[in-house]
Amino acid sequence: MERSTIVRVHEGLHARPATRFVKLAKGFESEVELVKDGKAVSAKSSVKLMLLAVKENQEVTVRANGADAIEAIEALIGYLENPRAGLDDEGEAGEGGPETAAAAPEAAPLAAAPTEGTPKLQGVAASEGVAIGPAFAHFPPEIEGPGRHLQAGEIEGELERFRGAVASVQARMDRTLAENNLSAGDRGIVAALRDIAADDSLTGEVERLIKGGDDAVSAVIAAASTIAADFSAVDDPYLNARADDVHAVGRQICLVLLGQDDVSLETIPQGAILIADDIGAWDLARAPLKRIGGVVCGHGGATSHIAIIARSHGIPAVLGLGRRVDDLRGAKVVAIDGHTGHVIIDPDEATRADFMRRVEAAAREHTGLKVFKSVTPTRADGTVIEVAANIGSLEEIEAAQEAGAMGVGLFRTELLFMRHMHLPSEDMQAETYSALARAFAPHSVIVRTLDIGGDKPIAGIEFPEEENPFLGWRGIRMCLDRPDIFKRQLRALLRAAVHGNIKVMLPMVSEIAEVTRTRALVDECAAELKAEGVPHASFDLGVMIETPAAVLIASALAKEVAFFSIGTNDLTQYIMAADRLNPTVAKLNDVTNPAVMSAIELTAKAGVAAGIMVGMCGEAAGRPDLIPAFIGMGLTELSMSPASIQRAKKTIAAMAPER
Ligand code: PEP
Ligand code: MG
Repeated sequence: MERSTIVRVHEGLHARPATRFVKLAKGFESEVELVKDGKAVSAKSSVKLMLLAVKENQEVTVRANGADAIEAIEALIGYLENPRAGLDDEGEAGEGGPETAAAAPEAAPLAAAPTEGTPKLQGVAASEGVAIGPAFAHFPPEIEGPGRHLQAGEIEGELERFRGAVASVQARMDRTLAENNLSAGDRGIVAALRDIAADDSLTGEVERLIKGGDDAVSAVIAAASTIAADFSAVDDPYLNARADDVHAVGRQICLVLLGQDDVSLETIPQGAILIADDIGAWDLARAPLKRIGGVVCGHGGATSHIAIIARSHGIPAVLGLGRRVDDLRGAKVVAIDGHTGHVIIDPDEATRADFMRRVEAAAREHTGLKVFKSVTPTRADGTVIEVAANIGSLEEIEAAQEAGAMGVGLFRTELLFMRHMHLPSEDMQAETYSALARAFAPHSVIVRTLDIGGDKPIAGIEFPEEENPFLGWRGIRMCLDRPDIFKRQLRALLRAAVHGNIKVMLPMVSEIAEVTRTRALVDECAAELKAEGVPHASFDLGVMIETPAAVLIASALAKEVAFFSIGTNDLTQYIMAADRLNPTVAKLNDVTNPAVMSAIELTAKAGVAAGIMVGMCGEAAGRPDLIPAFIGMGLTELSMSPASIQRAKKTIAAMAPER
């Protein structure tokens, strides 16, 4: 028996909703399958279900066969038709889904350590802070299957051994979850791994191979590789990252089969720098995180699980060193700078002293800055300087509020688009922007419209191959060419404006027509919402100043918009013609270069003359050495990573009264 329906589950059967769906299906005796585009998979396997990639508004069929088939179909169809399915319920399952992803941290400029004479490596700055400590190399040996062919009489015993190993891995994960000393994010990650360990796709494939004569270890390695390859092939970064999880689970099962203990992180000394090619999320989540001084890895990037865990525990991390991580295998002491991505091997005395000083200063500063949380900084003439937060997800609201953010000066909407398998719906966007508006009211929340380009493609938008993606089809250029996507975002923003002080800014603006065309689209969206009877409100429209063109037409632009926000990261790269991602030209990529500072000043003058607010949301906004100059130029809003807010407030409070 079968029934078809349109999936209304918000975001589709992704992570948590998929896990909940499987749990529901497993409650029935019947065989249950979910069918999409002619492909049928067992509804009792979360791996298979995730790989089916069922999205919101797609048609699927639930097929059931057994004594309770009618009840199963009723319940599962009900689930699929419920937009909030899997989202309201408590529980750890699936919390490691895309909801836990965090925005990439921002590289804060710090004085470089004197590292002459000591080898320095450059990686991805994945979690800010500096650390120096004894190196703790964690390079567990690869497990290789013996590749033994089983005799017919051995097969049953080998299957039993394998089932026992799976049960023991699951029991260990259950114990870890029951201990209840994991953070919500870490629990989600462990729970996701436990689901994979229990999943029929993995166990079924291993059993098939054992029945064909493979020994259990070889079978687990082969099955994990096959499933990991399936995850890697899906066009979704969240699901791609599950490939590592499958390998991690496979490894745990193999270790039990071999009667070996994994190389443990339990013995890591206090303050040590953990060095590894890769650290499984499972290993890191149950490691003694309080003892880890810093993390350096060959694998990983700013949005990998390791980065998320490191950031949420305040551990500095440099990832993505590639094979150069091997240079660290024999290191005794390692210093890392999570702001710049530098890793220094066996630093000389001067460098050690410098790092020690910076670590101690950071700890002292951290404690001393707390009193500035609730300070409202003002200029000598009484004008309030808004010190706001740059964030990229709702999960960061708490950190921003804790830091004392006076609203949001840059909400990067890219993550909303990048972390999902399909373009976010208008409703989903409206909910997100409304939640932000409510959280920070009466302060403003400046939402930047989608700023994505060929260097960071997202599911659902075809990007052309470009020689120079930074000079190509990104930001407002792409949005104006794709009104279907852009209008959905603008409608969501108009709806959210009812709930607080929403402002909207456009990235990568280089001509006035981009503003006027956007305004026409906003008007069109407002008229549509009115005709549909959907509550909405107007918002201030501003622009980011991050291209030389925008600086040169700032006076004219200022007449068209409600505010400027200077994006120093891009403005620096475009003024200096120095790629912000290219370490070879990093020296040129310097906001303090007189050319860039003049561009900032020109912008500020034009904005002040026109009487509009001029703010800044690039990295430079959080630099205590530059803040006085920016305020002197007339900037009245500075938006930065939450970690920099209290220091910025202190800097402004300490500024001498203007003459
Ligand atoms: C900038 O360019 O300064 C900016 C804030 O935007 P992003 O870093 O997201 O490009
Ligand atoms: Mg930018």
